[in-house]
Amino acid sequence: MTMISVQEAQKIILDLVTSLQETETIDLDQATGRILAETVTGDLDFPYWDNSAMDGYGVRFEDVNEGNTNQPISLKIVAEIPAGIKPEISIQSGEACRIFTGAMLPDGVDTIIMQENTQQQGKQVLVLSSPKYCGEFVRKKGNFYQAGEILLSAGTKINEPEMAILATAQCSKVTVYRRPRVAILSTGNELITTTQKLEPGQIIDSNQYALKAFILKNGGIPISLGIVEDEPNLIKEKIIEAINCADFVLSTGGVSVGDYDYIDQILEELGGKISISSVAMKPGKPLTVAKFDNGCVYFGLPGNPVSALVGCWRLVKLALYKLSGIKGDYKPQLITVKSNHDLSSQGKRETYIWGQLKLVNGEYLFILAKGQQNSANLINLGFTNALAILPIGVTKIKQGETVTVLMLCN
Ligand code: AMP
Ligand code: MG
Repeated sequence: MTMISVQEAQKIILDLVTSLQETETIDLDQATGRILAETVTGDLDFPYWDNSAMDGYGVRFEDVNEGNTNQPISLKIVAEIPAGIKPEISIQSGEACRIFTGAMLPDGVDTIIMQENTQQQGKQVLVLSSPKYCGEFVRKKGNFYQAGEILLSAGTKINEPEMAILATAQCSKVTVYRRPRVAILSTGNELITTTQKLEPGQIIDSNQYALKAFILKNGGIPISLGIVEDEPNLIKEKIIEAINCADFVLSTGGVSVGDYDYIDQILEELGGKISISSVAMKPGKPLTVAKFDNGCVYFGLPGNPVSALVGCWRLVKLALYKLSGIKGDYKPQLITVKSNHDLSSQGKRETYIWGQLKLVNGEYLFILAKGQQNSANLINLGFTNALAILPIGVTKIKQGETVTVLMLCN
């Protein structure tokens, strides 16, 4: 199969993925990071009732409209209204009430004078400057939201603001999409686990951990299936297990053109329809994407640690967003910033150069990761929160010129 562009791969992958439909109802406490599966409306206006935005005095605008510092208006204080109680009085002309932030306005009050613009004299209050308009420092009932309007739409990720909104609408339970299940397996005869003793020639399976973190960070449930040797029957067994327990499978290794690279062949034997086998990206070129009849989408990523992660960051992430039920246009988070270094590429494939976005004097700069840009060098990835992208045909970006950057922070 031919090598396709990253943009084509993105489109093909997104077309393969169907958003999850299954939902579960959970406590609001547990909802952070989940994807709302229902449209939420509230049956209360917000603010719930007219209330004061300031500590001060509740007045009738017509009483204080004409006042100024030389001729302050004096009003009789007839009540004190703290937050949390329902005022039982009605303020008449010539009267005021002491009132505190968040307290409900009594009848008759339409404007608040902030404490700083008043002077209390026994049972009277002097209004030292008149309000700018009727309703100043009043939070009107329903001004922010009216009962029955849509508060949040299905497909919204629940972050801090959404938690506050759901709480205010008294949604103690919320219906969310179930989390995507993603099986992770590492292929390679050379691989050992973190607890085994390293013998000459072996490599510790770091991909298992990197991909697990990637899945967790993006709202999925990782299912670690461990290491499988480059032995076709063993790989086949593992892949059968994986596609039967997960929505997506991420494997690393075995998708290149080496003698031990069996994944594509096995996927086909198992009835997987391969729609991508190579993408014009560097690192990350060998990438196999296949779909099975049960809906499971298989991503066969290259074994090199940086290549595997670049494939996740650039392509799998968008697929995972779509799978998880997030509504949106599933575009990579790209921004244009100044490069602090010369960047170069052979220009034949879209090239990703890892480094860090740094705020310098209020402007983002792309700082190249120190050390070798080598797809096996996972060490300097620790410095990374961004990938500079050099499109096909671009061989050089000079220091000080702008470069498009894929943000990895979120
Ligand atoms: P492959 O794609 O199987 O040819 O692997 C390419 C390179 O990535 C080889 O040097 C492997 O040793 C290395 N590699 C493969 N799988 C992993 C893994 N799970 N963790 C770390 N390195 C790996
Ligand atoms: Mg291998």
